[in-house]
This record gives sequence, structure tokens and C-alpha cells, in this order.
Amino acid sequence: MTTDPDCIFCKIIAGEAPAAVVARDEAAIAFMDVNPITPGHLLVVPCDHHVSFGTIPGAILSHMMLTAQWLAAALQASPIRTEGINLWLADGAAAGQEVWHAHLHVIPRWSGDGLRISALRGARPGGDELEQHAATIRAAAAD
Ligand code: AMP
Ligand code: ZN
Repeated sequence: MTTDPDCIFCKIIAGEAPAAVVARDEAAIAFMDVNPITPGHLLVVPCDHHVSFGTIPGAILSHMMLTAQWLAAALQASPIRTEGINLWLADGAAAGQEVWHAHLHVIPRWSGDGLRISALRGARPGGDELEQHAATIRAAAAD
């Protein structure tokens, strides 16, 4: 198992730091976010120390996503107010990542919960620009 002794999530996984654990298996752990955006806010975390989304092996990433789906259903079946769910993954400082062990947020939502995800979108680009970006990304994409 890959671990980093200075990583708070690795410490939780090793049982060396406290967490309110909801579920765990060999591949992933889910625990309550210590500073929740809404009550019931969970984190799904790979047991191996991966800094970035991009280095999580596909099988583990799929397992994290299935775990998030399962926990979203549990939240919806629970008395915790859950009219909707946002999944959130911050990959890199510019995206807001603060804990350098990749993780997926599962955030219960309800209308009027005060969480705003806003963006200053400019004018819609023309079709040519969208096609150009699609071609650029296709060309850069690994097989
Ligand atoms: P981010 O890296 O921005 O995606 O978010 C890191 C998240 O980890 C934040 O929502 C923190 O509240 C949460 N967090 C940080 N330390 C702990 C901890 N010891 N236990 C549970 N959640 C934590
Ligand atoms: Zn770690």
C-alpha cells in the first residue's frame, strides 16, 4: 500500500488520526468531512496515497465512483436532508485542492442551502472555436 507519513488522509486510513468512518474496504474509505458544506458531506478516498486524480488507477477510480453512488443513495434514504447531490473533485491548487491525497466529495444539497457554484461565463463561443478546442483535445488525448 502506498502511503505518505505526512498525509492526514493516510493517517486516517492507518487509524492514526480520527475520522467518522461510514464505510471502508481494501480500495477506498468514506468518512465525514470535518468541515462540511452541508450536514452529511462525505469524502470518498482511495486507500493508496495518490496526490492527483490523474494517477488513480482506473479500477480504483471506478470503485470510488460506485462508492459515491451507493453513499448518495444512502444519504437520500436517510433522514439527512438530501434533495440533490453534488459530486466534487478538486484536482490541483488552481481547482481548490487543499488536501494532497485525491478525494471525491459527496455533498447533500437542498434548494436554499446557500451553496453557490457560480462562474463568470463570457459570451458563447462560435461553433468553429468549439470544434477547434475539440480537435486540440482529441490530438492531445492519449490512446
Ligand atoms: P479539497 O482538497 O479542497 O477538495 O478539500 C479537502 C477537504 O478535506 C475539506 O472539505 C476539508 O474540510 C476536509 N478535511 C481536511 N482534513 C480533514 C480531516 N482530518 N478529516 C475529515 N475531513 C478533512
Ligand atoms: Zn495520503
